[in-house]
This record gives sequence, C-alpha cells and structure tokens, in this order.
Amino acid sequence: MSARPLASPAPAPAAPRAPGSGESQVQRALKKLGLVRDIDFALYLPLRYEDETRIVQLAHVRDGEQAQVEGVIVDSEIVFRPRRQLIATLDDGSDTCQLRFFNFYPSQQKQLAPGSRVRARGEVKGGFVGRTMLHPVVKAAGTALPLALTPVYATTAGLAQPVLRRAVQAGLARAGLDELIPAELLPHGAWSLRAALEFLHHPTPDVALVALEDRSHPAWQRLKAEELLAQQLSQLEARRAREAQRAPVLRAGTGEGSLHARLLAALPFSPTGAQARADREIAADLAHRQPMHRLLQGDVGSGKTLVAALAAARCIDAGFQCALMAPTEILASQHFGKLVGWLDPLLAAQGRRVAWLTGSQKKRERDAMAAAVESGEAALVVGTHAVISEKVRFQRLALAIVDEQHRFGVAQRLALRGKASEGGEGQGGMQALEPHLLMMSATPIPRTLAMSYYADLDVSTLDELPPGRTPVVTKLLAEHRRDEVIARIHGQIQQGRQVYWVCPLIEESEAVDLRNATATRDELADALGETVRVGLLHSRMPTAEKQAVMADFSAGTLQVLVSTTVIEVGVDVPNASLMVIEHSERFGLSQLHQLRGRVGRGAAASACVLLYAPGDSGRVGQAAKARLTAMVETADGFEIARRDLEIRGPGEFLGARQSGAPLLRFADLATDQRLLEWARDLAPQLLDRHPDQAHRHVDRWLGTKAEFLKA
Ligand code: ADP
Ligand code: MG
Repeated sequence: MSARPLASPAPAPAAPRAPGSGESQVQRALKKLGLVRDIDFALYLPLRYEDETRIVQLAHVRDGEQAQVEGVIVDSEIVFRPRRQLIATLDDGSDTCQLRFFNFYPSQQKQLAPGSRVRARGEVKGGFVGRTMLHPVVKAAGTALPLALTPVYATTAGLAQPVLRRAVQAGLARAGLDELIPAELLPHGAWSLRAALEFLHHPTPDVALVALEDRSHPAWQRLKAEELLAQQLSQLEARRAREAQRAPVLRAGTGEGSLHARLLAALPFSPTGAQARADREIAADLAHRQPMHRLLQGDVGSGKTLVAALAAARCIDAGFQCALMAPTEILASQHFGKLVGWLDPLLAAQGRRVAWLTGSQKKRERDAMAAAVESGEAALVVGTHAVISEKVRFQRLALAIVDEQHRFGVAQRLALRGKASEGGEGQGGMQALEPHLLMMSATPIPRTLAMSYYADLDVSTLDELPPGRTPVVTKLLAEHRRDEVIARIHGQIQQGRQVYWVCPLIEESEAVDLRNATATRDELADALGETVRVGLLHSRMPTAEKQAVMADFSAGTLQVLVSTTVIEVGVDVPNASLMVIEHSERFGLSQLHQLRGRVGRGAAASACVLLYAPGDSGRVGQAAKARLTAMVETADGFEIARRDLEIRGPGEFLGARQSGAPLLRFADLATDQRLLEWARDLAPQLLDRHPDQAHRHVDRWLGTKAEFLKA
C-alpha cells in the first residue's frame, strides 16, 4: 500500500499571463470561476449550446424559432417612434426580416448599411408587420460555418463570453487527457476521456439535445464515471490511511462481573435485536489494532444511548477510559443523566465514576473534573466539545463517542486525534495510538450517499424501535385553527399528559426569537387558564436556568413546554404525548422528524400537530409542501431522509460535515447509482494494480480538495 498522499498541490497556473504584468483582470475572473489548471478548463462544461452550423431560409422559419439567416440589407433607418431604434431589413431571397436594435453603436449602423451582406442569428418573430428579430447577433456574411454547436459557458463580470470560450478551448487543447483507467477496466464501449470532453464542448449538430440535457449521453456517462471514481479512490485511500494507524486493542470479556454484564443485568429492559447486533459489531471493531471508524445510525428513539453505554462498558472493562461528546449542552446533559443512572452505581464499587465536563462549568468544578479524568478516576467523561479541549488530559483514553456527528466540525474531530497517545501509550518509539471513534446520528444516510460521501465509514443501523411504542399521528392544521389545538392540549393535560410547543425559528435574530417565544408562552398560559403550568426554554437562557426548566418538565411540574428548537435533539420525557410545531413550513424535513420523535416515547397514543401559515399567495411554497406532505405520509426515518435528500440535494443535506468538501459536479446520486457501484468496485483494483494512475486520477479530478477527505 502506498503512503504517498493522493493529491499534490495544483501545478502552476496554465492560463495565459501577460509578460511583466501581475494577474490580469481576465485571469482574476477565470480564477473566480475556479479555472486555473488546464484540466479545470477542460472540465468546465457549457451551460448550453447555440446552433451556428446551419443557415436557413427565412421562408421556412416558424414564429418563435431560433435561426441563423444570411442575406443583403435592403433598407436601414433610425426611427424614433415609439423609441429610438435602428431597423435594418434583410432579404435572403426567400423572404425579408426586420432586424431591430434599441441600443446600437455607430459601428453597427455601418455594418447594417444598405447593400452589405450579413449573417444574423436570433429568435425570429412572425407577426403583423412581417418577420422581425430583436437584437440578433450579426456577423459579416460568408465566413465558414462551424461544424459543431457553439458552447455558451457560465461567466462572471469582466469576462466576455468569446474570451472565456477561447480560454476554455485553449485549456482543453493543452490538457493532458491521457487515459488513466486501463481499457479492460472501463465499461464496454466507453468513450475516451478526450473524445467525451471534446464532444461536450463542441457537440456535432446531429446530437439529441435531450441526451445532453439529462446527461444520459455516453460522453456524459464517461465524465460521471470518472468523477465518481475519483471520489471512491479518495475515500478508499483515506480508509487505508486510517487502517495503517494503531489503536488500543480492547478485548475484555463480557463474563459475569464485567461492567458490560452488570449493566445488562441492571437494566429494566433487554436490548432490542438491533441494539445487540450493533453492540457486537462495535465489540469486533474494538478488538482490532486499527481504530474503529463507525457510524451508529438509528431513528429518533431507537436507543442509541444504550449502545453507547455498552461500548463504554467494554472499553472500561478493558482498563481504558471513554469520552462521550454532544454538540449542545442540553443534549450532553441528557446523555449524562442516563449514563450516570446506569453506570455510576456499578462503577462506585471500583472507586470510579462518570464525570461531566462543559465549557459553562465553574472553573473549580471543571478543574476537579479534569483532575479526575487525568487520574483515571473518571472512567467515562460526558460533555460538550470541552471534553477534547487541550487542557483535558486523559490517563488512558481508548474510545471517543460523538453524538450527532454531523454537527461536529472537522477541526474538532481532528482534535480527538492523538488524545489516545497520551498517558504513556505512545512512548518508547512505538507508533502513537488513536482512539476508536463511534459516531451517532439520528439522520439516516440514504444508501447512495453512504456509498459515496461516507464510503470511509462502517455503519451499524438500529432499524428496530424498542417495544411498546405507539405510532405518532401527524396532523396538518392551518394557523387559524389554533383554537382546536388549545382544546387538544386541554384534553391531553386532563389525562395527565404533557405537551411540547415549538416556536418557529426566525433566522435573523435570537433576540426576536426569544421575544416571540416569550409572547407565545404568555398567550398559551392565558388561553389554557391558571391551573396549567407553562414553561419556557430558549437557547439564550443561562444553562442553569435551562436545566432547571428541563428538570421541571421531566418531573411533570410543568405541563406545557414552550421552546425554540433547543429540544430538537435528545430530550426524553416519555409522558409527553402531544407536540405542536408552529410555522412548521419553515423547518427542514429532518428537523421536523427529529422534533416529532420527542413524543410517542411512552405507551400513550401521541400526536404531532404541524401548524402552518400560508404565505401571501395563500399557499405554502413547493418545497415546504413536499416537506409537510412527507411528514404526514411517513414516520420512517429512512424514507424521510431519502425524501430530504431529494428535496435539498446532497450539498445541503450533508451540511456542516462536508463543508468545503468537493461535491459532485457531474454525477447525480439519484440517477447514477449504477455508475457509483461500478466506481466502488473499480477503486480497489485500480489502486492496487495501478497506484500511480490512481493517484494521478484523483489529482486530476480533486486536486488539493482531496486532502479534505482525509480529515
Ligand atoms: P435515541 O436513539 O433517539 O438517542 P435514546 O437512546 O434516547 O434514543 O432512547 C430512547 C428511549 O428508549 C430512552 O428512554 C431509553 O432508555 C429507551 N430504551 C432504549 N433501549 C430500550 C430497549 N431495548 N427497551 C426499552 N426501552 C429502551
Ligand atoms: Mg439520542
């Protein structure tokens, strides 16, 4: 296996550079479009094409058709009614056509003087006064016709289309497009890369334009295959680099007396089949010398925390420490509550415990916790990313668990690295040790996405909910039917149940959010009457206050909890049976699904009411409608994720985790699954048998961006 990095820095710019001058305006504009290397130009494909290959007879052109005609100017005048304009009449022998210009230069007037022969291209309108073309492109007649369609590229200020076109043409001609994939590994009949690119820049006029538009043309297929292969190779290399790393081998038994066994025995329930399977998959990873890199995905309420606790127990049984991190303090404290309850009584016998660490802690408290982590007294430490701050030194960290991993930045994940090497494990010239990494996510990754962007991860899926859950009934209600909702809330409270009311997000300002949430709380308190206790939770509140409110809601002292999205993840109050989401049209689909997952955790029949406010047009937008419909139609997290991907596209869907990652430019995960499978199967063969070509391929396609994928 090669240790050489896949991508080297981009070679020197190849775009033309005026001697002696710095960067020209054109070069700056090209750079802004990402056009630096020859290959960048070659891969910069046209937005659309214009057909300049044929000249047609005016008599055969239909109303509204794009056409190129050639003939003699028989008349030319400037008229002032209704506005100043130049009107030239062209006669091609079959018919005449008026060429009209509202803005024109003297040079144009000269070009269109009576007697000159010109070629004009544009949309021909039929109509009452005869044929006309408004602002056609005019050239001198008689120049040779191109043999291919004329490409039109997306451009930017200060870069004229012809200049860009020439630069792309030059880059394409210079680019070394030698075949890097051995012919026998290409699909049968595949186009060569050079042929494909040349065709896409200058297609022959007989091409079916739909095949270019829907990207089903063989030239497109070749490009998409190349792009997907680069992505697969890059991910494969990342995986192999990780496999070359070393982690502590955790192979404690789970026999009687182990923490793992005692935890299972102490639980008031037994794990679901899916939980047990995930636990075994994790155990197998932990027993390897390579660091685990596993994603535990499971719908809201599927019981990921228990799987995390079992993994932590295995780690502790092997004599190491474990860290669990969550992106928000509320979420971290929910985990902490559960884990303390499960593990602390069992750890106490060994003089060890579960520690809590966050940024908002008082310094003395935090120092005490950090000391417990360093001495090893803290077998498990739970908290926000403060857990991996530089100041916290672990005695023997071996396992890091990260909840809602997509909210964790790359920098934070990198900070985790090397933490396991502390405490003497990496000494004596031995290779530094990495912690095993378990990531948890309630947003399942659709299959094609998992195969592409997450190809370097192993995945365990909790596809089974703990028994005794009742499905949540979801209802869409227009905003003006609030009274019905109030009646429902009364009904639930009379049965001893509790209610969440989620206020909309108003992006601009948290202060406005807070005002709205406070107003909603007051309004609800009024409407529900004195006997009902209504609490408020907002991200602006101090942590201690937030925790007090959560504790009151958990204990049932508060019956209604008005909240902004701070309860989005992780809150677990099984007695809550109704969730109302205001302005639900403003929330993302996965977010709505997560919110809904807060109810239906107990045995009571639960409901989720999505209040929506039709916009000024009297309707909600297309995408919002698709989201709300999906919510009513399905409660399956995988189906929700699939639709979310469809609505938002991978860029948005991947969100923070992939910020800066090279997204696919050509391939489309919705339509190109077969090509993706081809690339996945080919990547290891190419990397093993032709490593140099594999590296050049990734470099060609991803350049320096390939580095990102290794983070
Ligand atoms: P999530 O996957 O959304 O993080 P949690 O870990 O918060 O789910 O679990 C949801 C609830 O289900 C918790 O109250 C948890 O204690 C409970 N739970 C977990 N596993 C089981 C099980 N096997 N049987 C019954 N209840 C379980
Ligand atoms: Mg959770």
